[in-house]
Amino acid sequence: MTAMDTIDLHTHSTYSDGTLSPRQIVDLAAATKLKAVAITDHDTTAGIAEALARGRELDLEVVSGVEISAQLDGQSMHLLGYGIRHDDPLFLERLGVLQTARKDRNSRIFAKLNTLGIPARIDQLPPTPGQTGRPHIARLLIAQGVVQSMDQAFARFLRRGAAAYVESYRMPADHAIAMIAQAGGLAFLAHPVGDDPKLKTVAALLKKLKDVGLAGLELYYPTHTPQTHAKLHKLGRELGLLFSGGSDFHGASKPHMPLGGRPNDKPVPYQLLAAIKARLNSRPSTERQS
Ligand code: AMP
Ligand code: FE
Ligand code: FE
Ligand code: ZN
Repeated sequence: MTAMDTIDLHTHSTYSDGTLSPRQIVDLAAATKLKAVAITDHDTTAGIAEALARGRELDLEVVSGVEISAQLDGQSMHLLGYGIRHDDPLFLERLGVLQTARKDRNSRIFAKLNTLGIPARIDQLPPTPGQTGRPHIARLLIAQGVVQSMDQAFARFLRRGAAAYVESYRMPADHAIAMIAQAGGLAFLAHPVGDDPKLKTVAALLKKLKDVGLAGLELYYPTHTPQTHAKLHKLGRELGLLFSGGSDFHGASKPHMPLGGRPNDKPVPYQLLAAIKARLNSRPSTERQS
């Protein structure tokens, strides 16, 4: 496959926890000769308009996306939405619920840090154009000399089970899928391996999600071994699911992961996006416009 056929459908910009602006991601996608790129920020579509505008300038295909934290029967997951109307009023209102929950969680993380004797304050976080989360808090702790690195910040304070950890709000998966569909999009299970490296629970999870409207799964992901890829491909085909793929690019927040994936990662083929677009265009117009 030539580089011209490669895409990346999973990236984070400065509107969530990435370090490049949407415009810079599109510039980088063009410079690295990707054929299409999706911006999939956590809980926000505020960066999409900027990416679409830059895509039009550079004649590079940009896909409107989002990543939502969800749960089903106590199992946590991330859901990606593709092809959403990024400015749909009802969609924005529903994202607002997640954004409020995030702010509340951040306050509670700072309260825990203060209890531990760390004087960091929420108003010391540098302003961001979008959603603030644990990576921003980690960077503040580094700047204040409390820890030396992101890893240390997560290990000592921010990861699940650590001293200042606060559970995040997770939307019921059926609601997340419905809100994506309502805005004209298709929902995909992100990094399906998650906490299930032996793929013991993913088949049952995919069946349940498919029953509530899941359209596809993220087949190409940097952590997937050839065996994982083969198993997920088989599962997806059996369930009639579409496939997506991406690097989960975060810029300098994940410096080891370049846009489009590392040199030895399986490149994500454009055909996946062609199939996604065919499904988007074949859906009843009520779902696209209601
Ligand atoms: P939040 O959305 O606030 O729960 O933050 C989750 C984000 O934190 C993930 O999307 C990652 O980008 C980042 N993250 C999680 N663990 C680590 C870690 N050990 N080091 C650096 N970043 C991390
Ligand atoms: Fe992230
Ligand atoms: Fe994720
Ligand atoms: Zn992600």
